[in-house]
Amino acid sequence: MTTILETQQLTKSFGNNQILKGIDSKIEKGEVIVVIGPSGSGKSTYLRCLNSLETSTSGTVSFEGQVVNQLSEEQLDKIREKMGMVFQSFNLFANYSVLQNLNLAPMYVQGISETEATQKSRALLAQVGLADKADAQPTSLSGGQQQRVAIARALAMNPDVMLFDEPTSALDPEMVGEVLNVIKDLAQTGMTMVIVTHEMGFAKNVADQVWFMDQGQLIEKGTPEQVFDHPQEARTKDFLSKIL
Ligand code: ADP
Ligand code: MG
Repeated sequence: MTTILETQQLTKSFGNNQILKGIDSKIEKGEVIVVIGPSGSGKSTYLRCLNSLETSTSGTVSFEGQVVNQLSEEQLDKIREKMGMVFQSFNLFANYSVLQNLNLAPMYVQGISETEATQKSRALLAQVGLADKADAQPTSLSGGQQQRVAIARALAMNPDVMLFDEPTSALDPEMVGEVLNVIKDLAQTGMTMVIVTHEMGFAKNVADQVWFMDQGQLIEKGTPEQVFDHPQEARTKDFLSKIL
């Protein structure tokens, strides 16, 4: 197996407030990890440490075998290019068309020609079911469509891993399924993914592993069956009893 991401005794504090309290975690190539846990438990902070949007306070984060803690901003930018991130809010560039949103980073960060970028972007839009929206403005799209564009945009950089932070939490209920289906299809292509979500049915279907986080610690890890049907830890049982 090839380890894509690894943390060892990762901590993160904001001032005196320790948010992550020594996280040991390992994500292997092709794995789909779903992270669940109460609001405020540190899930977003963990994802942000994985792609160095936050600097860890102690411990290590490694990407593809390289410890990233001590790298320069320039080196980090190179590494971040290989990690696609999708947020709750879609963060599309409102003044650009859908196609331009996908083309921008490949053209201006990777230096790919517009012709080549456009070809790739159109294929990605087809993959997320939006081939006909290339020339649309993001604001004319539904929330579910915008989030699918955001996923396609992240994929345009050919990432080695995709990180999703509650990708369906801002959506109207009728649009959740179309976004989850795109993520599920992506899982079937073998993409390595870490997904923070409250969609437990989706987690059961798609996750190789479910990790339960509470108060800055990874409390329990296992297959969906292990964590959902046979939780071992009291805090996991308590959390699941409230949401299932
Ligand atoms: P989750 O995603 O599980 O809801 P977060 O990682 O967003 O949890 O937040 C965990 C805790 O860290 C919260 O108490 C939050 O207020 C705090 N926190 C997150 N980011 C910052 C920040 N930039 N500055 C100060 N506190 C923060
Ligand atoms: Mg969060």
